[in-house]
Amino acid sequence: FGDLFDAFFGAGAGTGTRRGRPPAGSDLRYDLRLTFAEAISGADKEIEFSAMASCDTCTGSGAEPGTTPVTCPQCSGTGEVRQVRSTMLGQMVNVTACGRCRGLGRIVESPCKTCRGDGRVERKRALRVAVPAGIDEGHQIRLSGEGEAGPRGGPPGNLYVVTHVEPHPQLKRQETELYFELDVSITQASLGARVSVPTPDGEEWVEVRPGTQPGTEIRLRGKGVPHLRRSGARGDLHVLVDVRVPSRLSSRQRELLEELAVESGELAEDRDDGADGSATNGSGPAPRSGRRRKSGIRDRLKDAIS
Ligand SMILES: [Zn+2]
Ligand SMILES: [Zn+2]
Repeated sequence: FGDLFDAFFGAGAGTGTRRGRPPAGSDLRYDLRLTFAEAISGADKEIEFSAMASCDTCTGSGAEPGTTPVTCPQCSGTGEVRQVRSTMLGQMVNVTACGRCRGLGRIVESPCKTCRGDGRVERKRALRVAVPAGIDEGHQIRLSGEGEAGPRGGPPGNLYVVTHVEPHPQLKRQETELYFELDVSITQASLGARVSVPTPDGEEWVEVRPGTQPGTEIRLRGKGVPHLRRSGARGDLHVLVDVRVPSRLSSRQRELLEELAVESGELAEDRDDGADGSATNGSGPAPRSGRRRKSGIRDRLKDAIS
């Protein structure tokens, strides 16, 4: 677990603890990896790690069973030592942690042999973590009191489980919204089609309407990610349609597209170059008369102005 698990916010023994009582244990961080599906639907995960835990032999006191820690004679249990010095400016009071009891106020005269007086031993622990549906990359789940035990019976720190979510191969996630880029062919976009789209609940059929333009968004309501705080509410899956223009054409495909171009008035039927097949082989509908229609934007502009 070395790389996954490390002490987090520094030992509680440092600044911020009051003298005369045992310091709190460190907070711990555990990095938990989740699949995309687990993040969407939530999961019960078992985690295992080694951490300092209260010593069973001395129940955390650090004193050999049968003995109890006694009040430190040096500081009378306050955990601090006051030194008064006379200076030119007057009396200076210097307060420091007691060196004999290390600020704890109590000393262990016969230390527990199991933990050598620390009150803690390293122990393997297993915990269940309830991962809520809708969790995202970098979220933290706090488990109060599940961090390191404090030395000599000090209160435990917290355990922070930091989640890491494996990305979906096709769906992009942004908080509660999911995005999918759907490639359709020019014929599917023109004629309409039923296409299969990945969702968190499996593949789903989606209707692409005839005449769908590139950039059209088809929204599948409630097929996104559950809201973490509003139970039952779910984001949407946004299907963004992209129209793929073929970069290579078979001769038959070219023929058909040229027919389409003629039909749309974009290409003269009597073009010299590609006139090797369609009109003469008799298959398919005969092209209509090859008059050139002025449908370009410039022509239409001209019409509008004049
Ligand atoms: Zn012990
Ligand atoms: Zn002391």
